[in-house]
Amino acid sequence: MMVLLLLASLIPQQVLIATPRGQASIPVSNETGAAAVAAVLLARPLGLTVSLDGSAVRVTLDSRVFDFDVGSPFFRFDGATYPLVGAPYVARDTLFLPLHWLTGHVPRLLPNKYRWNPWLARLDEQPAPILATAPVPPSPIAAPPPPPPLPPPLPAPVPQPPRSAAPNPITGLRLPHTIVVDPGHGGIDPGNPGLNFPGGLTEKDITLGIGKLLRAELVRRGLNVVLTRSTDTLIELASRPTFCRAVCDLFVSIHVNAMPAGKRQTAVNGVETYFLSDAKTEDQKRVAQMENDALRFETTPVVDGPLGFILRDLQLNEYLRESARLAELVQGKVSRIHPGEDRGVQQGPFLVLAAARRPAILVEAGFATNRSDGAFLASATGQHKIAAAIADAIVGYLLEFERKLAGVGGGSGQAR
Ligand SMILES: [Zn+2]
Repeated sequence: MMVLLLLASLIPQQVLIATPRGQASIPVSNETGAAAVAAVLLARPLGLTVSLDGSAVRVTLDSRVFDFDVGSPFFRFDGATYPLVGAPYVARDTLFLPLHWLTGHVPRLLPNKYRWNPWLARLDEQPAPILATAPVPPSPIAAPPPPPPLPPPLPAPVPQPPRSAAPNPITGLRLPHTIVVDPGHGGIDPGNPGLNFPGGLTEKDITLGIGKLLRAELVRRGLNVVLTRSTDTLIELASRPTFCRAVCDLFVSIHVNAMPAGKRQTAVNGVETYFLSDAKTEDQKRVAQMENDALRFETTPVVDGPLGFILRDLQLNEYLRESARLAELVQGKVSRIHPGEDRGVQQGPFLVLAAARRPAILVEAGFATNRSDGAFLASATGQHKIAAAIADAIVGYLLEFERKLAGVGGGSGQAR
């Protein structure tokens, strides 16, 4: 049951097309294993036309021509060939175009006209630009009133972020952001027993302490914060990411690591940051297993078979790349203030990350089985340092994100 719900929430169900003429929600099809949209459904909202001649597909959008071939994961535009995730195909007498073309290539090739927001799964068509070197001719089907006479052409301006506001004086961020902070475990699920925590503290106490401090640090930086729990209660793993829905930019889960009994148990120390993926090493498998083990305190049954399938689909997901970048920034900041080792960015199949439809990471803030890590994690100073470092990294990530939204650097992911 839960896995089906997870599956449904991971593959984008639909794309919102927002234009000056109105909005339309387009269902996303996944029948060939790559996300696709029916071309006919794009015709009205985007003013797109399609002609099919044998296997040759010609799509005209905003008076620009894109040439595809059915079954071929490439298209041609302006004399260049571009690769696609997936290929156009025909099913039930309907032509389907790869979602990657619509949400990846179109905003990059026609940046003054289209903007893709992966957070909202929303493609925005910009109103006719007022300042542009080459005014875009009006779309043949779109029929807004003609724009007012243009001033003499000027160099193309850097596009402004949506709802551009004065930057926050502390962070430089221009947009409102909401972060979901998830202190791991709670209630009847203590997490790991915390061999080196004083006074019977367990993982759930440390994660709640850091989580609350992280909230305070983020609020101090002008961000909105939602905690999945602010008391000692158990929230089911699958419910935690549902806190990250309509208004949420990032999901950050806080945990404490532990080594199993053995020779290395007390020696291993340090911090590591995970994003969702297949576990690559035995150590990554151990941590994912340990955190997913919270399931045994839950009442909803879980079947774990399709998880691998879900993860394969996620490889194509932009949230994965964004999560990896967020993990990299957080790991960089936290390892600098941590007494233990920098264990780097890791990947693992964490159920708590699987359902978040946003960049999502899990911080293993240190080892409860190591004396020095344990003392640091249980101390007010240590918890505060960790919280402040994570908050700084989140602000750094959001600044990058805002710059990408503003189109500086030419498109998502390319400036790195
Ligand atoms: Zn944990």
